Amino acid sequence: MKESVTVEKFRELFKTRDSVAAEWKKAGNKVVGCVSTYTPEEIIYAAEALPVEVMCRAETFSKADAYLPSFACSFMRGFLEVLLEERYGYLDLLTLPSLCDSSRGFYGIWKQISDKPYAYLLHYPTNRSEEASEYFAEEIERFKNFMEDFVGKNVSEKDLRNAIDVYNENRRLLKKLYWLRRKESPPISGVEALEVVLSSMTTPKNLHNQLLERLLREITEREDYPEGGVRLLVSGHIVDDPDVLKVIEDSGGIIVSDDLDSGSRYFWNLVDSEAKPIEGISRRYIRIPSPYGSPIKDRINYLKLMVKAFHVEGIIFLTRKFCEPYLFDYVTLGQAVKEEGIPSLYLEYEYPLARGALKTRVEAFVEMLR
Ligand code: SF4
Repeated sequence: MKESVTVEKFRELFKTRDSVAAEWKKAGNKVVGCVSTYTPEEIIYAAEALPVEVMCRAETFSKADAYLPSFACSFMRGFLEVLLEERYGYLDLLTLPSLCDSSRGFYGIWKQISDKPYAYLLHYPTNRSEEASEYFAEEIERFKNFMEDFVGKNVSEKDLRNAIDVYNENRRLLKKLYWLRRKESPPISGVEALEVVLSSMTTPKNLHNQLLERLLREITEREDYPEGGVRLLVSGHIVDDPDVLKVIEDSGGIIVSDDLDSGSRYFWNLVDSEAKPIEGISRRYIRIPSPYGSPIKDRINYLKLMVKAFHVEGIIFLTRKFCEPYLFDYVTLGQAVKEEGIPSLYLEYEYPLARGALKTRVEAFVEMLR
């Protein structure tokens, strides 16, 4: 399939993310590694540092296994492995939201074995009350103070408002791109959409916004529309390798929407730009429907909304091996979508991908939906 140059541009950006970060550093700025979906990137941006999502794709865990038990999730084992391999030697700082036992465990271990990069734990609330929002706002304020010391720059209200505008713009543009996938023939495949979002998580947002505007002008004119197929939605954690979705789309499905940390959940909600900046940021980040403290009904409603809006025929739940939060939620989510008459398939994976086995299961699911 011939590709549009502009879609290719996002793929390239994602693939060359290390050089993008290196360029940023060369200009004398700091680079901050994140689990971006839940790290308020606006603070990092306002402090003139570059937030980049750390991609944890590791096929072996020879270094990480010296510190983590083999039943720790493959995401965190991969995270530790890539850091110990110094694949992210350019990071000045690592921010970690306390989302689950594995992320908290990772933080404790990293503190014992290294301070390069220095790790900062952001305490993410485990419920969605007004008090939780206030608590998280205080936590974000502390993080802002820390960033100010770290980069040696005062972050003013104006800086924060500017960061909110730039990030909201990126979210609006990504949402526009996603809405195009509601069409009977979506102009962008699930793999390509993932590449666009992943590149947003690793590229300076101003540049990404400019490219997205161009993509939106050109995408519907492309001559090489993706092949159609059964309309699928994928639900799960961060998918940091587009190959995972490629296996699905090579099996007769087209992914038209998602409920992923590296997909719609990264940008669906905006920060209320009328609110006080820190409060607005806090509310936005704790409203992401996730397994880290959201009432399960929020996740169910979000899935239903996506299924309806994007004319989804089947859901694939994608879980990293030994990922407890998603495994626990899956029981209720799977039941809820069944009651709605939406067929679903549960897939667990780790790297290296067991392509053959995954493909066989997706093909059988797609065949059933046909
Ligand atoms: S959410 Fe799951 S995959 Fe992610 S760090 Fe926690 S246990 Fe691991």
